[in-house]
Amino acid sequence: MKILVINAGSSSLKYQLFDMDTETVLAKGLCERIGIDGHIKHTPKNGKNVFEADMAFPSHSEAIAAVLKVLVDPDCGVISSVDEIDAVGHRVLHGGMEFSDSCVVDDACIDAIKRCIPLGPLHNPANLMGIQACQAVMPGKPQVAVFDTAFHMTMPPKAYMYAVPYEYYEKDDVRRYGFHGTSHKYVTSRAIELLGGRKDLRIINCHLGNGSSLSAVKDGKCMDTSMGITPLAGVPMGTRSGDVDASVVQYIMNRYGYTVDEMLNILNKKSGVLALSGVSSDFRDIDHAAAEGNERAQLALDKFAYEVRKYIGAYTAALGGVDAIVFTAGVGENSAEMRARILSGLEYLGVKIDPEKNKIRGQEIDISADDSAVRVLVIPTNEELMIARDTKALTEKK
Ligand code: AMP
Repeated sequence: MKILVINAGSSSLKYQLFDMDTETVLAKGLCERIGIDGHIKHTPKNGKNVFEADMAFPSHSEAIAAVLKVLVDPDCGVISSVDEIDAVGHRVLHGGMEFSDSCVVDDACIDAIKRCIPLGPLHNPANLMGIQACQAVMPGKPQVAVFDTAFHMTMPPKAYMYAVPYEYYEKDDVRRYGFHGTSHKYVTSRAIELLGGRKDLRIINCHLGNGSSLSAVKDGKCMDTSMGITPLAGVPMGTRSGDVDASVVQYIMNRYGYTVDEMLNILNKKSGVLALSGVSSDFRDIDHAAAEGNERAQLALDKFAYEVRKYIGAYTAALGGVDAIVFTAGVGENSAEMRARILSGLEYLGVKIDPEKNKIRGQEIDISADDSAVRVLVIPTNEELMIARDTKALTEKK
Protein backbone atom coordinates (compact mmCIF):
# COMPACT_ATOMS: atom_id res chain seq x y z
CA MET A 1 0.00 0.00 0.00
CA LYS A 2 1.37 3.45 -0.94
CA ILE A 3 0.39 6.59 0.95
CA LEU A 4 1.21 10.17 -0.01
CA VAL A 5 1.57 12.46 3.02
CA ILE A 6 1.01 16.17 2.47
CA ASN A 7 1.81 19.07 4.80
CA ALA A 8 0.43 22.19 3.12
CA GLY A 9 1.35 25.67 4.29
CA SER A 10 0.07 28.93 2.86
CA SER A 11 2.83 29.12 0.22
CA SER A 12 4.55 25.77 0.56
CA LEU A 13 3.75 22.08 0.40
CA LYS A 14 5.90 19.27 1.81
CA TYR A 15 5.29 15.70 0.72
CA GLN A 16 6.49 12.16 1.39
CA LEU A 17 5.46 9.00 -0.42
CA PHE A 18 5.46 5.92 1.83
CA ASP A 19 5.49 2.27 0.97
CA MET A 20 3.45 1.07 3.94
CA ASP A 21 4.32 -2.61 3.44
CA THR A 22 7.81 -1.71 4.67
CA GLU A 23 7.01 1.69 6.25
CA THR A 24 9.78 3.24 4.15
CA VAL A 25 9.92 6.58 2.34
CA LEU A 26 10.07 6.21 -1.44
CA ALA A 27 10.47 9.92 -2.15
CA LYS A 28 10.03 13.26 -0.49
CA GLY A 29 10.07 16.87 -1.51
CA LEU A 30 9.01 20.45 -1.15
CA CYS A 31 7.09 22.90 -3.33
CA GLU A 32 7.76 26.50 -2.37
CA ARG A 33 6.64 29.99 -3.33
CA ILE A 34 3.10 28.81 -4.26
CA GLY A 35 1.09 31.81 -5.46
CA ILE A 36 4.32 33.79 -5.99
CA ASP A 37 6.31 32.03 -8.72
CA GLY A 38 7.13 28.45 -7.75
CA HIS A 39 9.98 26.02 -7.05
CA ILE A 40 10.07 22.25 -6.51
CA LYS A 41 12.73 20.02 -4.99
CA HIS A 42 12.10 16.28 -5.23
CA THR A 43 14.33 13.68 -3.59
CA PRO A 44 13.81 10.05 -4.56
CA LYS A 45 15.16 7.51 -2.09
CA ASN A 46 16.12 4.77 -4.56
CA GLY A 47 19.38 6.29 -5.72
CA LYS A 48 17.73 8.18 -8.59
CA ASN A 49 18.56 11.81 -9.25
CA VAL A 50 17.31 14.69 -7.16
CA PHE A 51 15.07 16.90 -9.29
CA GLU A 52 14.94 20.65 -8.70
CA ALA A 53 13.31 23.31 -10.88
CA ASP A 54 11.49 26.63 -10.97
CA MET A 55 7.90 26.02 -12.01
CA ALA A 56 4.78 28.20 -12.05
CA PHE A 57 2.53 27.33 -9.09
CA PRO A 58 -0.38 29.82 -9.19
CA SER A 59 -2.15 27.64 -6.58
CA HIS A 60 -1.74 24.44 -4.55
CA SER A 61 -3.43 22.48 -7.37
CA GLU A 62 -0.54 23.14 -9.77
CA ALA A 63 1.91 22.18 -7.01
CA ILE A 64 0.12 18.85 -6.38
CA ALA A 65 -0.01 18.21 -10.14
CA ALA A 66 3.77 18.81 -10.29
CA VAL A 67 4.34 16.42 -7.36
CA LEU A 68 2.39 13.66 -9.14
CA LYS A 69 4.33 14.33 -12.34
CA VAL A 70 7.73 13.96 -10.68
CA LEU A 71 6.56 10.88 -8.75
CA VAL A 72 5.86 9.06 -12.05
CA ASP A 73 8.73 10.62 -14.05
CA PRO A 74 10.96 7.98 -15.77
CA ASP A 75 14.16 9.64 -14.45
CA CYS A 76 13.35 10.82 -10.95
CA GLY A 77 10.02 9.07 -10.30
CA VAL A 78 9.44 6.14 -7.94
CA ILE A 79 6.10 4.79 -9.20
CA SER A 80 4.83 4.10 -12.69
CA SER A 81 1.31 5.48 -12.28
CA VAL A 82 -0.64 7.73 -9.92
CA ASP A 83 -3.02 4.77 -9.52
CA GLU A 84 -0.34 3.18 -7.33
CA ILE A 85 -1.05 5.80 -4.65
CA ASP A 86 -3.77 4.25 -2.48
CA ALA A 87 -4.58 7.25 -0.30
CA VAL A 88 -3.41 10.70 0.77
CA GLY A 89 -2.88 11.81 4.38
CA HIS A 90 -2.93 15.49 5.28
CA ARG A 91 -1.53 17.25 8.29
CA VAL A 92 -4.13 19.69 9.68
CA LEU A 93 -3.20 22.01 12.52
CA HIS A 94 -6.39 22.61 14.48
CA GLY A 95 -9.16 20.10 15.00
CA GLY A 96 -10.77 22.16 17.79
CA MET A 97 -13.39 20.21 19.72
CA GLU A 98 -14.55 18.63 16.45
CA PHE A 99 -11.83 15.97 16.14
CA SER A 100 -10.43 13.61 18.73
CA ASP A 101 -8.95 11.38 16.04
CA SER A 102 -7.96 11.37 12.40
CA CYS A 103 -10.82 11.47 9.92
CA VAL A 104 -11.57 10.34 6.36
CA VAL A 105 -12.12 13.49 4.30
CA ASP A 106 -15.70 14.00 3.21
CA ASP A 107 -17.99 17.04 3.08
CA ALA A 108 -18.74 16.84 6.82
CA CYS A 109 -15.01 16.66 7.64
CA ILE A 110 -14.26 19.67 5.43
CA ASP A 111 -17.09 21.66 7.04
CA ALA A 112 -15.72 20.81 10.50
CA ILE A 113 -12.18 21.87 9.50
CA LYS A 114 -13.68 25.14 8.28
CA ARG A 115 -15.44 25.62 11.63
CA CYS A 116 -12.00 25.35 13.28
CA ILE A 117 -10.53 28.20 11.16
CA PRO A 118 -11.10 30.84 13.90
CA LEU A 119 -8.88 28.69 16.18
CA GLY A 120 -6.19 28.14 13.53
CA PRO A 121 -6.60 31.14 11.23
CA LEU A 122 -3.16 30.88 9.61
CA HIS A 123 -2.82 27.13 9.18
CA ASN A 124 -6.26 25.58 8.70
CA PRO A 125 -7.05 27.50 5.48
CA ALA A 126 -3.68 26.43 4.03
CA ASN A 127 -4.23 22.81 5.11
CA LEU A 128 -7.66 22.93 3.44
CA MET A 129 -6.10 24.25 0.23
CA GLY A 130 -3.89 21.14 0.20
CA ILE A 131 -6.91 18.85 0.66
CA GLN A 132 -8.98 20.61 -1.97
CA ALA A 133 -6.08 20.66 -4.43
CA CYS A 134 -5.77 16.87 -4.07
CA GLN A 135 -9.52 16.49 -4.59
CA ALA A 136 -9.22 18.54 -7.77
CA VAL A 137 -6.15 16.76 -9.15
CA MET A 138 -6.95 13.21 -7.91
CA PRO A 139 -10.75 13.03 -7.80
CA GLY A 140 -12.04 10.05 -5.85
CA LYS A 141 -8.68 9.25 -4.18
CA PRO A 142 -9.31 8.50 -0.47
CA GLN A 143 -7.96 11.23 1.78
CA VAL A 144 -7.47 11.46 5.53
CA ALA A 145 -7.03 14.52 7.76
CA VAL A 146 -4.69 14.08 10.74
CA PHE A 147 -4.89 16.78 13.39
CA ASP A 148 -2.09 18.23 15.51
CA THR A 149 -4.57 18.63 18.35
CA ALA A 150 -6.31 15.22 18.26
CA PHE A 151 -3.95 13.22 20.52
CA HIS A 152 -4.51 15.71 23.33
CA MET A 153 -8.31 15.42 23.33
CA THR A 154 -8.17 12.79 26.10
CA MET A 155 -7.14 15.47 28.62
CA PRO A 156 -9.53 15.76 31.57
CA PRO A 157 -11.38 19.07 32.05
CA LYS A 158 -9.15 20.06 34.98
CA ALA A 159 -6.22 20.07 32.54
CA TYR A 160 -7.87 21.71 29.56
CA MET A 161 -10.06 24.36 31.20
CA TYR A 162 -8.78 27.91 31.64
CA ALA A 163 -9.97 29.65 34.81
CA VAL A 164 -11.70 32.41 32.84
CA PRO A 165 -15.48 33.02 32.60
CA TYR A 166 -17.11 29.69 31.70
CA GLU A 167 -19.15 31.19 28.86
CA TYR A 168 -15.98 31.52 26.74
CA TYR A 169 -15.64 27.74 26.86
CA GLU A 170 -19.34 27.12 26.26
CA LYS A 171 -19.87 29.68 23.53
CA ASP A 172 -16.44 30.11 21.98
CA ASP A 173 -14.56 26.81 22.53
CA VAL A 174 -11.87 28.59 24.57
CA ARG A 175 -9.78 25.86 26.26
CA ARG A 176 -6.37 24.19 26.07
CA TYR A 177 -5.98 22.07 22.93
CA GLY A 178 -2.24 21.40 22.63
CA PHE A 179 -0.21 20.77 19.46
CA HIS A 180 2.54 18.48 18.05
CA GLY A 181 -0.04 15.77 18.83
CA THR A 182 1.09 13.54 15.96
CA SER A 183 4.64 13.62 17.32
CA HIS A 184 3.50 12.99 20.91
CA LYS A 185 1.37 10.08 19.67
CA TYR A 186 4.26 8.58 17.67
CA VAL A 187 6.85 8.76 20.46
CA THR A 188 4.30 7.49 23.00
CA SER A 189 3.64 4.38 20.91
CA ARG A 190 7.39 3.82 20.38
CA ALA A 191 8.14 4.32 24.08
CA ILE A 192 5.48 1.76 25.03
CA GLU A 193 6.96 -0.69 22.51
CA LEU A 194 10.54 -0.07 23.66
CA LEU A 195 9.56 -0.54 27.29
CA GLY A 196 8.02 -3.94 26.70
CA GLY A 197 4.46 -3.08 25.71
CA ARG A 198 3.16 -2.08 29.16
CA LYS A 199 0.41 0.44 28.43
CA ASP A 200 -0.06 1.70 32.01
CA LEU A 201 3.25 3.60 31.95
CA ARG A 202 3.43 7.21 33.09
CA ILE A 203 5.35 8.97 30.33
CA ILE A 204 6.48 12.58 29.99
CA ASN A 205 7.20 13.46 26.35
CA CYS A 206 9.49 16.42 25.65
CA HIS A 207 9.15 17.53 22.01
CA LEU A 208 11.92 20.14 21.93
CA GLY A 209 12.60 21.81 18.60
CA ASN A 210 12.06 25.25 17.17
CA GLY A 211 8.59 24.86 18.64
CA SER A 212 8.51 22.93 21.91
CA SER A 213 5.82 21.18 23.90
CA LEU A 214 5.58 18.58 26.64
CA SER A 215 2.85 16.04 27.28
CA ALA A 216 1.93 13.96 30.31
CA VAL A 217 0.69 10.52 29.24
CA LYS A 218 -0.88 7.69 31.23
CA ASP A 219 -2.22 4.43 29.76
CA GLY A 220 -1.14 5.74 26.34
CA LYS A 221 -3.49 8.71 26.67
CA CYS A 222 -2.64 12.39 26.99
CA MET A 223 -3.51 13.78 30.42
CA ASP A 224 -1.98 17.26 29.99
CA THR A 225 0.14 19.24 27.58
CA SER A 226 2.01 22.53 27.68
CA MET A 227 0.67 24.34 24.62
CA GLY A 228 -2.74 25.95 24.82
CA ILE A 229 -5.50 27.23 22.56
CA THR A 230 -2.60 28.13 20.24
CA PRO A 231 1.05 26.95 20.12
CA LEU A 232 2.16 30.10 21.98
CA ALA A 233 1.87 28.62 25.48
CA GLY A 234 4.21 26.45 27.53
CA VAL A 235 8.01 26.54 27.59
CA PRO A 236 9.98 29.29 25.82
CA MET A 237 10.68 28.31 22.20
CA GLY A 238 12.85 29.49 19.30
CA THR A 239 10.84 32.69 18.82
CA ARG A 240 7.70 32.11 20.96
CA SER A 241 7.53 33.41 24.50
CA GLY A 242 5.80 30.41 26.06
CA ASP A 243 3.82 31.17 29.22
CA VAL A 244 3.76 34.83 30.31
CA ASP A 245 1.52 36.73 32.71
CA ALA A 246 -1.25 38.01 30.41
CA SER A 247 -0.85 41.47 31.94
CA VAL A 248 2.56 41.75 30.26
CA VAL A 249 0.62 42.03 27.01
CA GLN A 250 -1.48 44.97 28.15
CA TYR A 251 1.51 46.69 29.82
CA ILE A 252 3.73 46.56 26.70
CA MET A 253 0.85 47.45 24.36
CA ASN A 254 -0.01 50.52 26.40
CA ARG A 255 3.59 51.69 26.67
CA TYR A 256 4.37 51.32 22.96
CA GLY A 257 0.92 51.77 21.40
CA TYR A 258 0.98 48.34 19.73
CA THR A 259 -2.07 46.77 18.14
CA VAL A 260 -3.10 43.26 19.18
CA ASP A 261 -1.61 41.85 15.96
CA GLU A 262 1.69 43.65 16.52
CA MET A 263 1.86 42.37 20.09
CA LEU A 264 1.07 38.79 19.06
CA ASN A 265 3.71 39.03 16.37
CA ILE A 266 6.23 40.01 19.05
CA LEU A 267 5.18 37.09 21.27
CA ASN A 268 5.20 34.58 18.40
CA LYS A 269 8.11 35.75 16.26
CA LYS A 270 10.41 37.92 18.36
CA SER A 271 10.44 36.29 21.77
CA GLY A 272 11.68 32.99 23.20
CA VAL A 273 15.38 32.10 23.17
CA LEU A 274 15.86 34.54 20.26
CA ALA A 275 14.85 37.43 22.51
CA LEU A 276 16.69 36.19 25.59
CA SER A 277 19.96 35.45 23.78
CA GLY A 278 19.85 38.33 21.31
CA VAL A 279 21.76 35.91 19.07
CA SER A 280 19.43 33.55 17.20
CA SER A 281 16.37 31.34 17.48
CA ASP A 282 18.52 28.38 16.49
CA PHE A 283 19.83 26.42 19.46
CA ARG A 284 23.09 25.54 17.68
CA ASP A 285 23.92 29.25 17.23
CA ILE A 286 23.05 29.88 20.88
CA ASP A 287 25.25 26.95 21.98
CA HIS A 288 28.20 28.43 20.04
CA ALA A 289 27.66 31.90 21.45
CA ALA A 290 27.39 30.56 25.02
CA ALA A 291 30.58 28.53 24.54
CA GLU A 292 32.32 31.78 23.58
CA GLY A 293 31.20 33.41 26.79
CA ASN A 294 28.03 35.24 25.67
CA GLU A 295 26.10 35.59 28.94
CA ARG A 296 22.70 36.19 27.38
CA ALA A 297 23.10 33.08 25.24
CA GLN A 298 23.88 31.16 28.43
CA LEU A 299 20.81 32.71 30.08
CA ALA A 300 18.61 31.56 27.16
CA LEU A 301 19.89 27.98 27.51
CA ASP A 302 19.50 28.03 31.29
CA LYS A 303 15.98 29.48 31.07
CA PHE A 304 14.89 26.91 28.49
CA ALA A 305 16.25 24.00 30.54
CA TYR A 306 14.75 25.41 33.74
CA GLU A 307 11.26 25.76 32.27
CA VAL A 308 11.34 22.28 30.70
CA ARG A 309 12.52 20.85 34.05
CA LYS A 310 9.67 22.65 35.82
CA TYR A 311 7.13 21.09 33.45
CA ILE A 312 8.67 17.66 34.04
CA GLY A 313 8.24 18.24 37.79
CA ALA A 314 4.66 19.43 37.33
CA TYR A 315 3.74 16.49 35.12
CA THR A 316 5.36 14.03 37.51
CA ALA A 317 3.00 15.41 40.17
CA ALA A 318 0.05 15.33 37.76
CA LEU A 319 0.71 11.68 36.86
CA GLY A 320 1.48 10.59 40.45
CA GLY A 321 5.03 9.63 39.42
CA VAL A 322 6.93 9.04 36.22
CA ASP A 323 8.15 5.84 34.56
CA ALA A 324 9.73 7.32 31.43
CA ILE A 325 10.89 10.67 30.09
CA VAL A 326 11.13 10.86 26.29
CA PHE A 327 13.14 13.41 24.31
CA THR A 328 12.34 14.11 20.67
CA ALA A 329 12.57 16.76 17.86
CA GLY A 330 15.63 18.81 16.83
CA VAL A 331 16.95 19.76 20.27
CA GLY A 332 15.59 16.74 22.14
CA GLU A 333 17.09 14.27 19.68
CA ASN A 334 20.42 15.97 19.07
CA SER A 335 21.56 17.98 22.05
CA ALA A 336 23.14 15.76 24.70
CA GLU A 337 24.12 18.90 26.63
CA MET A 338 20.54 20.21 26.76
CA ARG A 339 19.16 16.82 27.86
CA ALA A 340 21.75 16.67 30.65
CA ARG A 341 21.05 20.29 31.64
CA ILE A 342 17.29 19.66 31.80
CA LEU A 343 17.62 16.49 33.86
CA SER A 344 20.23 17.78 36.29
CA GLY A 345 18.41 18.39 39.55
CA LEU A 346 15.87 15.62 38.94
CA GLU A 347 18.01 13.01 40.71
CA TYR A 348 15.57 13.16 43.64
CA LEU A 349 12.96 11.61 41.32
CA GLY A 350 15.37 8.77 40.63
CA VAL A 351 16.34 10.11 37.19
CA LYS A 352 19.90 9.18 36.28
CA ILE A 353 21.38 9.20 32.79
CA ASP A 354 24.43 7.35 31.49
CA PRO A 355 26.72 10.12 30.10
CA GLU A 356 28.23 7.77 27.49
CA LYS A 357 24.85 6.61 26.17
CA ASN A 358 23.68 10.23 26.16
CA LYS A 359 26.42 11.05 23.62
CA ILE A 360 25.04 8.61 20.99
CA ARG A 361 23.13 10.44 18.25
CA GLY A 362 20.64 9.75 15.51
CA GLN A 363 18.97 6.62 16.85
CA GLU A 364 16.37 5.43 19.32
CA ILE A 365 18.18 4.85 22.58
CA ASP A 366 17.58 4.38 26.29
CA ILE A 367 20.09 6.79 27.83
CA SER A 368 19.24 6.03 31.46
CA ALA A 369 21.82 4.59 33.82
CA ASP A 370 21.22 0.97 34.82
CA ASP A 371 20.18 2.03 38.33
CA SER A 372 17.87 4.87 37.18
CA ALA A 373 14.34 4.55 38.59
CA VAL A 374 13.03 6.37 35.51
CA ARG A 375 13.77 5.32 31.93
CA VAL A 376 15.05 8.20 29.80
CA LEU A 377 14.56 7.61 26.08
CA VAL A 378 15.61 9.49 22.96
CA ILE A 379 13.15 8.71 20.16
CA PRO A 380 13.52 10.46 16.79
CA THR A 381 10.01 11.64 15.93
CA ASN A 382 8.31 10.71 12.68
CA GLU A 383 5.12 12.69 12.25
CA GLU A 384 4.86 11.81 8.55
CA LEU A 385 4.95 8.07 9.28
CA MET A 386 2.28 8.54 11.96
CA ILE A 387 0.09 10.37 9.41
CA ALA A 388 0.70 7.57 6.90
CA ARG A 389 -0.20 4.93 9.53
CA ASP A 390 -3.46 6.68 10.42
CA THR A 391 -4.27 7.12 6.73
CA LYS A 392 -3.63 3.44 6.10
CA ALA A 393 -5.74 2.38 9.09
CA LEU A 394 -8.70 4.50 7.99
CA THR A 395 -8.64 3.68 4.28
CA GLU A 396 -7.36 0.11 4.08
CA LYS A 397 -9.92 -2.24 2.56
CA LYS A 398 -10.54 -4.89 5.17
P1 AMP B 1 12.97 21.11 14.81
O1 AMP B 1 12.02 22.25 14.93
O2 AMP B 1 12.50 19.86 15.46
O3 AMP B 1 13.46 20.89 13.40
O4 AMP B 1 14.30 21.53 15.64
C1 AMP B 1 15.08 22.62 15.24
C2 AMP B 1 15.99 23.02 16.38
O5 AMP B 1 16.83 21.92 16.74
C3 AMP B 1 16.91 24.18 16.02
O6 AMP B 1 16.90 25.16 17.04
C4 AMP B 1 18.28 23.52 15.97
O7 AMP B 1 19.31 24.40 16.34
C5 AMP B 1 18.13 22.43 17.00
N1 AMP B 1 19.20 21.44 16.84
C6 AMP B 1 19.41 20.58 15.84
N2 AMP B 1 20.56 19.88 16.03
C7 AMP B 1 21.08 20.32 17.20
C8 AMP B 1 22.26 20.00 17.96
N3 AMP B 1 23.12 19.08 17.55
N4 AMP B 1 22.47 20.67 19.12
C9 AMP B 1 21.60 21.61 19.54
N5 AMP B 1 20.48 21.95 18.88
C10 AMP B 1 20.22 21.32 17.72
